[in-house]
Amino acid sequence: PPSLLWFRRDLRLTNNPALQAALRDGKPIMPVFILDEESDGHRRLGRASRWWLGQSLTELDTAIAQLGGRLILRTGPTLATLRELVLETGACMIHFNRRYDPPGSNLDRQIIEALRGDGLAVEDHAPNYLHEPWQLQTNQGDFCKVFTPFWRRLSQHVGPPATHRAPRAPHAWPACENWPSSGAIEHFQYKPAWTENFAHHWQPGEAGARHRLQHFLEDGIDDYPSKRDYPAIEGTSRLSPHLAWGEISVHEAWHSAEPAKCSGAVAFRRELAWRDFNMHLYFHYPDLLRQPWRENFRKFPFRKSAAMLKAWQQGRTGFPLVDAAMRELWQTGWMHNRMRMVTASFLIKDQLIDWQQGETWFWDTLVDADPAQNGANWQWVAGCGFDAAPFFRIFNPVIQSVKFDPQGDYIRRWIPELAALSAKEIHQPWAVPEDRLAATNIQLDRTYPRPILDHAKARQTALAAFRQVSGRS
Ligand code: FAD
Repeated sequence: PPSLLWFRRDLRLTNNPALQAALRDGKPIMPVFILDEESDGHRRLGRASRWWLGQSLTELDTAIAQLGGRLILRTGPTLATLRELVLETGACMIHFNRRYDPPGSNLDRQIIEALRGDGLAVEDHAPNYLHEPWQLQTNQGDFCKVFTPFWRRLSQHVGPPATHRAPRAPHAWPACENWPSSGAIEHFQYKPAWTENFAHHWQPGEAGARHRLQHFLEDGIDDYPSKRDYPAIEGTSRLSPHLAWGEISVHEAWHSAEPAKCSGAVAFRRELAWRDFNMHLYFHYPDLLRQPWRENFRKFPFRKSAAMLKAWQQGRTGFPLVDAAMRELWQTGWMHNRMRMVTASFLIKDQLIDWQQGETWFWDTLVDADPAQNGANWQWVAGCGFDAAPFFRIFNPVIQSVKFDPQGDYIRRWIPELAALSAKEIHQPWAVPEDRLAATNIQLDRTYPRPILDHAKARQTALAAFRQVSGRS
């Protein structure tokens, strides 16, 4: 009987602990992916993630077929589907890599218990993180809520590269005699019209992930510390969707960034550590997506304005940097990290809209959407999370623009209607004289919106609201 290899957010063949364990069993391996949108506690994937998943599964399917195997695709509630597959194939062993998001790990616990009750051997393996969330603790034995000590502990904890020789993919797939039926790969692909350009920006799948890492190591990591804050240039690795879908091992990314060989390695590793930190927080605080960590924020007087929210989502706030970023997100499924901070701050602190609305939009439109990263980062910007930016640090969208897009190249790329403005004018078109606007074919309110709010006033209102909830006068 075959061993069942259950893929989730670990869509790779190299350095995949569950696959390595299944290979050691020496039995035929039946790889399966289940799209479960029904089980309790399951959050439906966002649409951009569904696009990525369809592409990544296609790649995995091809890679397994080239080795002589088949990827079995099913939809439905996970436990019932796994039981069906066990009945159909007589499998008596299941391998999978753990997950730590609380809804996912609760579901896994139930599944493990039920399948073991059925008499199956079930083995879970290390997921795509640098540490297990219970391994690192404060001196008081609590979980870590502050990044710097967490980072210190994590850096000491991650073993040297010698202990981590990346196991390669198998040369041939240990094939089953009888393969169960599989859904057609086309049914797992999802291409809403708006995602049609995503493929120009991304190559989902393991080969694309490896290519991205190599490219970054050869041509990006040395300048990473000095270039990572400028959205107009490719100063970061853009590995996030590949890591979110487990197409590359985070250990491989960590160890291939060698501090002795490249000057940006420590800065890059620090960002990988943030990824672990956020997962650590979500594991220990399952309400991350529902409740601010800081209790006083639970009564924050947010506004409900569908029109304001829509202007933000569609990149029509009248603040060019914010709008460029929101359009980059819509057109590519990704947004630069600094821009995520700027747009999130704008939504929460200028527009006074609940961070959860922003989290929901990002969840739907990011190809790297990940509950821990998205939830923790939104709480961080809102000032209500762990080790968060203080609420009163409110980004000024014009100053950010001048500082991080000094030539206006990023704005020109995503807002072509402003392209004719000079580097000095482009950050605040409303301050450009009428005759100059006319000469550049810009009509405020017609070709590009006027600002939907006054930043200085919005800032005062936000600070007053903050004083109200924090009891400060
Ligand atoms: P690099 O700078 O090359 O960093 C390397 C890797 O480190 C990234 O791929 C990512 O896995 C990790 N990383 C980098 N920055 C962070 C960070 N601030 N927090 C956690 N991990 C980080 N990242 C996601 O992967 N999924 C999300 O859903 C997500 N939502 C976010 C929402 C908001 C409001 C903010 C401010 C940030 C969010 N991030 C999220 C974090 C960060 O913006 C992205 O990981 C980063 O922009 C990805 O680009 P990169 O791969 O080029 O990063």
